[in-house]
Amino acid sequence: MIRQFIKHIFLKKKTPFTLNKNSSNTTVIQPSQLVKKPTIWGKSSHQIDQKLLSHNAVNVCQVLQKKGFQAFIVGGAVRDLLLGKRPKDFDVATDAKPEQIRQAFRRARIIGRRFQIVHVMFGAETIEVSTFRAFNQIGAETDEHGRVLRDNVFGKQNEDGARRDFTINAMYYDPKTETVWDYHHGMEDIQAGVLRMIGDPGTRYREDPVRMLRAIRFANKLQLKIDPATLEPIAKMASLIQNVPAARLFDEMTKLLSSGQAMACIQGLRQAGLHQGTFPLLDLILNHKQGQPFLIEALRRTDERVHDDKPLSLGFLFACLLWPLTLERWEKKQESNSQKFPALLETIDELIYEQSQQLSIPKRITADMREIWAFQPRFEKRNGTQPFRMIEHPRFRACLDFLELRTFAKEIDSELANWWRLFYDGDNTTRTRLQAEVKDSQTNGKKKPNKRKRKNNSTRQPQNAATNSQANLSSSTNTTNNHDDES
Ligand code: ATP
Ligand code: MG
Repeated sequence: MIRQFIKHIFLKKKTPFTLNKNSSNTTVIQPSQLVKKPTIWGKSSHQIDQKLLSHNAVNVCQVLQKKGFQAFIVGGAVRDLLLGKRPKDFDVATDAKPEQIRQAFRRARIIGRRFQIVHVMFGAETIEVSTFRAFNQIGAETDEHGRVLRDNVFGKQNEDGARRDFTINAMYYDPKTETVWDYHHGMEDIQAGVLRMIGDPGTRYREDPVRMLRAIRFANKLQLKIDPATLEPIAKMASLIQNVPAARLFDEMTKLLSSGQAMACIQGLRQAGLHQGTFPLLDLILNHKQGQPFLIEALRRTDERVHDDKPLSLGFLFACLLWPLTLERWEKKQESNSQKFPALLETIDELIYEQSQQLSIPKRITADMREIWAFQPRFEKRNGTQPFRMIEHPRFRACLDFLELRTFAKEIDSELANWWRLFYDGDNTTRTRLQAEVKDSQTNGKKKPNKRKRKNNSTRQPQNAATNSQANLSSSTNTTNNHDDES
């Protein structure tokens, strides 16, 4: 009804929802999304499981409501609750101003310069509280592509609802009355399993191209069907992603990869036409044929960790994503006679520099990536005291997991990773035995009669692939893999 009414009022001139640009780079946004009254769903309609609620988020709402403000759990948390999932974080929206919110809580701080929000801290949990934002009808400042640069005016709840991206993300839950306030038919869409943009999708993507990536992420993560009108403009508008600041792209890429459906999301981006040229890292992932087994396994393990509620290391994840390219370039450098370890360090520097230009990977993450990659050739040194020092390294486990992943992708022989796993898990006796075994196999395998006269030069054993660095580092095409546990 409301939808029809709005269509009647705003679309009667048969003018589609358009973006009018004036000379001063401001975008006049037509207010067709502004719904005055929400549908309010009672407990029997929404059936939100109280056990999935965060006590802290409820507490934040109660405190603000007692002070006479409106306060609701909002956005993704309401969507997840309606889908019967436990939200990973909770946001609260209110008509209280940032300073009023801050004063209401003992541990709260205002963050953000452009648009202030308040973080209310409860031990490990932080509730993000934001003041309703206005739907700027006069004109929002944009860049030359229509991307909204500034939107920092406070407003009413219905305006706040209209500014949100998808109908299912624009619902407000009042824990006191246990009602869901729905301005854009989000409940219907949730029930129908549809992801639908609020307002005209093309306009909303132009305002913020990251919404295209969010559409693909939510559709895959929550198994929703993207409404055809919401999907349709994406392929045409994909290039707008290039204008998004690198730090935001990195954030979104991270959310996508840790959604629990990383591979499905990446395939979704490809299907929607969002990969080529727009997201350089995705080009690399999707087009690196030789690296596919490694990447597929890395993403599968990532999804598995998310489903098992295990923490994800972004350093590890990005090290995986860029590894096929690192390996390829490292091998090329070695072919042109660069020494192995310096060649690796040079490759790492180059790659990290290139990626930072496009994706703005934070330094702490590139530091982890660097460590994991640079550790790989060190695994070949199994004699002496070095292995003992290596296992003491704080990132050793991650480096070993990475080595095991390479083994899985048949990039190197499994014997090496198995040896290290046993060495790491073993006691000192086991470690000494393992080192002795390696020494034996090396002595047998590396006999070079012309170097020094040896006592026994009768049977020359085949060189162990795991101790042959060139064999280890060559691509998946020419490795002879042995997946037996040898140690
Ligand atoms: P998740 O936290 O699972 O990624 P979410 O929907 O909670 O999903 P957030 O990035 O936490 O995503 O954003 C919280 C809410 O803010 C969203 O539900 C949506 O209402 C609004 N929002 C976030 N990003 C945008 C955007 N780019 N455009 C419009 N609204 C947005
Ligand atoms: Mg969220």
